Amino acid sequence: MNPYVQYMYSYPHKTAYRPLEGVDLQEYVELLAGKSHGLYLHVPFCQGKCGYCNLFSVTGQSGEDMERYLDAVERQSRQYGKLLKPYGSEFSEFTIGGGTPLLLSEKQLGRMFALVKDCFVLEERAEIGIETAPNQTNRGKLELLKREGVSRVSMGIQSFSDEELRTLRRGHRAKRAREALQMLMSVGFSCVNVDFIYGIPGQTVDSLQVSLKEAAGFGVDEIFLYPLYVKHGAGLVREGVVPDPEYAYLQYREMSEYLRSEGFRQDSMRRFVRVKRNGRQGGKRPFSECGFGTSLALGCGGRSYMGSLHFCTPYAVTQETCLAQIRDFETRDDFLQVSHGMLLSEEEMRRRYVIRHLLIRPGIAPGRYEALFHSSVWEDFPALRDWMSAGWLEESAGIVQEQHEEGWTNGKPECFLTLTEEGMGLSDYLGPMLVSEAVWGKMKEWEAVYEPGGGFIPGKSEKL
Ligand code: SF4
Repeated sequence: MNPYVQYMYSYPHKTAYRPLEGVDLQEYVELLAGKSHGLYLHVPFCQGKCGYCNLFSVTGQSGEDMERYLDAVERQSRQYGKLLKPYGSEFSEFTIGGGTPLLLSEKQLGRMFALVKDCFVLEERAEIGIETAPNQTNRGKLELLKREGVSRVSMGIQSFSDEELRTLRRGHRAKRAREALQMLMSVGFSCVNVDFIYGIPGQTVDSLQVSLKEAAGFGVDEIFLYPLYVKHGAGLVREGVVPDPEYAYLQYREMSEYLRSEGFRQDSMRRFVRVKRNGRQGGKRPFSECGFGTSLALGCGGRSYMGSLHFCTPYAVTQETCLAQIRDFETRDDFLQVSHGMLLSEEEMRRRYVIRHLLIRPGIAPGRYEALFHSSVWEDFPALRDWMSAGWLEESAGIVQEQHEEGWTNGKPECFLTLTEEGMGLSDYLGPMLVSEAVWGKMKEWEAVYEPGGGFIPGKSEKL
């Protein structure tokens, strides 16, 4: 069995999105009324394309190119801001992802924060997060982030071995990663998290442990441990690099146990959170609804979730296809017409809910599922019973987090269906089993038409 079928970080996957007609954001904007929404800004620029990357990003762009992109983000933000004003929308989370957002100059970063704060209302205790990479991390930019109220910084380190970094075609070296992480830790953000990869050809259990031990030694708050995937037009596909799933799984089992023994709580297959005895991160992760959150994306390549409407610019991976999308985005003045995405049926909403909750602790609360969908999760997803029998799923008691005007509090205990340790290690095998045939069909269709091309080109390849 290959435990690495598909990373289910959201559902449905963007490759299942298709052109939409006659969908106007104004008809959905009410869903963004009031508090607790997410705001996401995608900065699709990187210094170089990593060999495994299948994210929406381009390389080799000048300061002027990035300025032109920010001009379009500004037009979009002003239009969205005007639209949201009558609804009193407030955002509890603002995330800047990429790409490598810190590739922007300090001036451009300042412009971006000023723009967002001018057009949108961030809640008083909003979590502001940003992604960075070692080569783009310097003290001036980190201090700017601190002044702007950033609370979470996420750095892609991937390995502290130069040989493994070279295999990944990653642009930085271990020495630079150490310096950048040291600098990051010294600025005093509430949460610093670092990403590492396992399953790299040539990497061993021991060399992975050396990297993780070093990261933990810096005092980071969270470690994300990703299996190496090589798909969807990534550079390593063309080089014929094929990870060994069996060895990767062995590395996962050894290292998840290692991190737990070092005082990290495992919230999902990838996420390990350092348990702080007197801090806000306790021993158990409380439950919070994550199937229906509304999130608005700015820029090109990020996706918005508004009830049953999910939308995004068409999925693209390669330099040519991503750049074509960016150039198209930069010509636009009207961002209210939604032209690409998916309108989820009730059945797909149920699947999304179960996938989103199952793969993160404490899991699914059958009682809450029933209250939301007026149906039994056992009847809708008979596979869950088989997974209980196989020892991948178990019943457990957990805490439901409830939202109030002043924030979140722990509510009443509830019965959950929680992945066992073994089940959690199989997240990328079990999650895909919950994907509908219709969505799988669309994902496969995308791969057949666009692999290895890597995406749509506006006006050129609108086949799907
Ligand atoms: S993995 Fe991250 S840093 Fe590397 S090319 Fe992709 S978006 Fe850029």
